[in-house]
Amino acid sequence: SLGAVVREVALDLFPRAQAKNIDLGAEGGEVELQVEGNPVLLRELVRNLVDNAIKYTPQGGHVTVRTRFAGSPVLEIEDSGPGIPESDRELVFERFYRVLGSGVDGSGLGLPIVREIAELHRASVTLDANPAGQGTLARIVFPRSHLQAPPLVQGDVDALV
Ligand code: ATP
Ligand code: MG
Repeated sequence: SLGAVVREVALDLFPRAQAKNIDLGAEGGEVELQVEGNPVLLRELVRNLVDNAIKYTPQGGHVTVRTRFAGSPVLEIEDSGPGIPESDRELVFERFYRVLGSGVDGSGLGLPIVREIAELHRASVTLDANPAGQGTLARIVFPRSHLQAPPLVQGDVDALV
């Protein structure tokens, strides 16, 4: 359950968000999404992305973790931080690479781990500017799974009866 993985990570990291007065929210939990894979690795993937979002977003900002179904399960982590310059968005997946002047300690290993775990699950990872304004939008698109029936929404149910 992608939702269960997100809930576990969010609960774990909630105190860190709270300490920075960051509003950590989750969206999409009402739709149950199944992903095929290793729950320990998937937790590690989500943890690294949410960790980055909290770490690089200044005091009082927002972090939103969203799950949704768009032909296959999608996970998005959106933050109101400084964003990642476009010229660095591929380089940050290299081991030890860190954006100059980010002002926070780190090893530059989180995103390479994220990419490796995504590849093991045949999922894609992209980093973009947050369309909601300032910040980063990290998106993981999982492959279609035979476990996953497209979730029913009320409109579909109405059409069936
Ligand atoms: P760690 O190994 O502890 O995760 P890290 O956070 O520096 O260290 P990565 O997670 O690989 O390493 O991130 C690489 C770099 O990408 C970071 O140093 C930071 O400059 C930039 N970055 C990653 N996520 C964000 C984000 N949400 N907002 C702004 N910059 C980010
Ligand atoms: Mg990191």
